[in-house]
Amino acid sequence: MKNFSVVCRDDDASKRVGSAVIKALKNNNLTFTQTQPEIIIVIGGDGTFLSAIQQYLPVLDRVCFVGIHTGTLGFFTDYTLGTLEQCIVDILSKQPYIEQKRMLKIRIGNNEYYALNEARVESTKTQAIEVYVGNEKLESFRGNGLCVSTQSGSTGYNRSLRGAIIESGLELLQLTEIAGIHHTVYRSANVPIILSGNRYIHLFSEFNGATLSFDHYSFPLDNVRDIEISLSDKKVNFAHFSPNSWFKRIEQLF
Ligand code: NAD
Repeated sequence: MKNFSVVCRDDDASKRVGSAVIKALKNNNLTFTQTQPEIIIVIGGDGTFLSAIQQYLPVLDRVCFVGIHTGTLGFFTDYTLGTLEQCIVDILSKQPYIEQKRMLKIRIGNNEYYALNEARVESTKTQAIEVYVGNEKLESFRGNGLCVSTQSGSTGYNRSLRGAIIESGLELLQLTEIAGIHHTVYRSANVPIILSGNRYIHLFSEFNGATLSFDHYSFPLDNVRDIEISLSDKKVNFAHFSPNSWFKRIEQLF
């Protein structure tokens, strides 16, 4: 790989690492280009990684990502400040193994949004949501919101909602409740529901006052009545330069 780009978190430590990486790779005849990179080096944390993916969304099939965490260990980042030099040596001398992860597609009217981790509909007031899978009704939900996560997102917000951690490589959707109300009048599943990766989840409601969050972006859902969530064709290419054990990562992080 000859062309690279760098996406840095906006803090002094990350920017310093970014300058050092650019200098080292340029000195070894790699070309720094923000428009046509083959590899994108993400410096910061998991949030920086998620924003780098959004930045390169139109060309995801032509790029791969590698992350250097400037704090502690992240979920998407293979390197830390302590292994920075190794990262540069690996990029210069090794062919990476590419791991692909599917993204979610969130469709609202004619607009489409993509997320690697999850999509969340959240409200401070009680939100009544009719949940359909394809054309079939699954349940009537009442509570603060719902979260639909991918395998990648299963260890993020989904996990805090007591959703299941899903092993890397499985392509599916997980629907979890955010503070669901359950008593004699309102009943919904009250446990995470795991759906096949080819399902389309439709959420119907008067969403005025609610918010859609996807990865680390969010916007108000005023005048929205129908949200469709499914796995998309977009895949994120993660570049790994040494054996990458998902089980080890789980053990280290949790
Ligand atoms: P952020 O970037 O500050 O991330 C919040 C924490 O979630 C960080 O510790 C990050 O390392 C971790 N994280 C992010 N994606 C992860 C994943 N796939 N597996 C394990 N840990 C992960 O927060 P942000 O920019 O507002 O949101 C980015 C992501 O962070 C969201 O997509 C969400 O999954 C996660 N998040 C989780 C919680 C929670 O668990 N209560 C709250 C906010 C955000």
